[in-house]
Amino acid sequence: MTTITDRLAIAQSRIAQAAQNSSRRAEDVQLLAVSKTKPNSQIIEAYHAGQRRFGENYVQEGESKINALSQEFPDIEWHFIGPLQSNKTKVVATLFDWMHTVDREKIAQRLNEQRPESKLPLNICIQVNISQEANKSGTEAKEVFALAEKIARLPNLTLRGLMAIPSADVDEQTATQELAALQSLYQQLAERFDSVDTLSVGMSNDLELAVAHGSTMVRIGSAIFGERDYTKV
Ligand SMILES: *Cc1c(COP(=O)(O)O)cnc(C)c1O
Repeated sequence: MTTITDRLAIAQSRIAQAAQNSSRRAEDVQLLAVSKTKPNSQIIEAYHAGQRRFGENYVQEGESKINALSQEFPDIEWHFIGPLQSNKTKVVATLFDWMHTVDREKIAQRLNEQRPESKLPLNICIQVNISQEANKSGTEAKEVFALAEKIARLPNLTLRGLMAIPSADVDEQTATQELAALQSLYQQLAERFDSVDTLSVGMSNDLELAVAHGSTMVRIGSAIFGERDYTKV
């Protein structure tokens, strides 16, 4: 049986190999372990294997995990990566270190207002809609710069970059086109804003393609923790 520790090592070696194939350094691609639906015991196992960045999708689940674990494991970095309604921003502003799915000004403003003074600014990625599918979440590419300008002016937020979820079940050529467009947008944003250093893209099934297109943070769930059982959430 493979353990979480084994699977983390396999994910790290996939990242290292993908980086090498693109003449990039492995340490320039960070691994975010996506622990949604998984118990605290599995987060702790990954922690003991050296993992420090964890991603959660649901406000309530994230809140209870952070409250249970943050005292004993203060060096865990918590990333919110799920869709967020504007009436649920407070938990994210108060408890998380990163927020990957900002897609409109109202959410950014609320996070800025609710971020406690005692904490460092909340790290922000703008979620971009890079897929051709109609009802995908995220900001349209042509609106990213306007939103970035607004976020950059908010003192309790730090604009770190872009996040995207490529279309599922498309052919490799379409996936490559989406990622190439994302990479180009990211490079323009990084030229305009000094604080921008993060391209959050790539999951268990597409991390190699994402690293080939400049990803600096891959979000890996099932390849580390196994398939998710949503009936238990
Ligand atoms: C669940 C999730 C992931 C992890 O997906 P896997 O395919 O399990 O690696 C990454 N990013 C987001 C936004 C997710 O919701």
